[in-house]
Amino acid sequence: MRMKAAVIKDWGKPLSIEEVPKPEPGPGEVLVRIRASGVCHTDLHQWKGDWPAVKLPMEKHGVRILGHEGVGVVEEVGLGVTRVRKGDRVGVPWMNYWCGSCEYCLSGYPHWCPHAKYTSVHVNGTHAEYAVIHERTVPVIPKEIEDVEAAPLMCAGVTAYGAIRKLITEVKLPPGKPIAIIGAAGGLGHYAVQIAKAFGYVVIGIDIGEERIKFVERLGADYAIDVSNAEKFVKEKFGGVYASVVFTPKINGYELGLRLLKTLGVLVAVGIPDVKEGALQLYPLTIIGMGFRILGSSVGVTHEFEELFNLVLNKKVKGHITRVADLSEINNVFQDLEKGRIVGRAVLRI
Ligand SMILES: [Zn+2]
Ligand SMILES: [Zn+2]
Repeated sequence: MRMKAAVIKDWGKPLSIEEVPKPEPGPGEVLVRIRASGVCHTDLHQWKGDWPAVKLPMEKHGVRILGHEGVGVVEEVGLGVTRVRKGDRVGVPWMNYWCGSCEYCLSGYPHWCPHAKYTSVHVNGTHAEYAVIHERTVPVIPKEIEDVEAAPLMCAGVTAYGAIRKLITEVKLPPGKPIAIIGAAGGLGHYAVQIAKAFGYVVIGIDIGEERIKFVERLGADYAIDVSNAEKFVKEKFGGVYASVVFTPKINGYELGLRLLKTLGVLVAVGIPDVKEGALQLYPLTIIGMGFRILGSSVGVTHEFEELFNLVLNKKVKGHITRVADLSEINNVFQDLEKGRIVGRAVLRI
């Protein structure tokens, strides 16, 4: 059996739409007929082979199909699957498998399972007619959320949710406190602003340029501030923020995040700067004297999807999807994304 897919022939060269073998679900896995697949900035880095930690496993496992924001219908279930059934509408996110029995899985942090497999890294991705995923990691999507709207929730939405959620679960920061969201108009940041508002925080959305700041305002941020004025504003108005959540993939976004913190503030790291930008400089005495904490946050897991879907159903969160294209147009979409011509998220229909 064959299926249509967008395949990497050569790193960074145009993808080719071709017929490839259709995957089969192994024990515990489900086969999903993909209907929509979101395009993430990570796709571009993977496609160009920018990140060795991702390129090496892709080569090792023969993975040539990108995409980790898939939405579709379960067509077949593997041996022993009990959580989902044929006909269920599900997502295929970045986390494709975790073991369920290591210390991280057992303590509620399967994001860091050392045996985890990622969609489009260890297993072929969702820019294709079919993809497989383990039943443990598969989010079941409520019928009210359409395919195209659900797709970006699989990575952008849940990653933003996981980061803001940590302010409650890990930091124990009460509602009503001011926090900064850096990169607030971006693919992840625009979800984060809405989620943080739903959680009751005072949201200072920081981005760059008039158009993006206006967008942050429309999202419902309490304050939408240009990066050029952010430090002065935050210091004068609040004396600092309790948390800076950094979505901007730039070291200077992280530096700003640190400068905005008040004593005992928390920096939440999400955006991934290019390795060429170097490291974040931080003096140990600053960490000690200010009592800073730094938390890393990566994607999200099954129960976080369920919570996020509830926010969407309650109209607290809405994605900004500005481009819907056919799978055959994937090279154009990649080009436009790379040139910054797509504000919000792009989704492929398959
Ligand atoms: Zn595990
Ligand atoms: Zn992604």
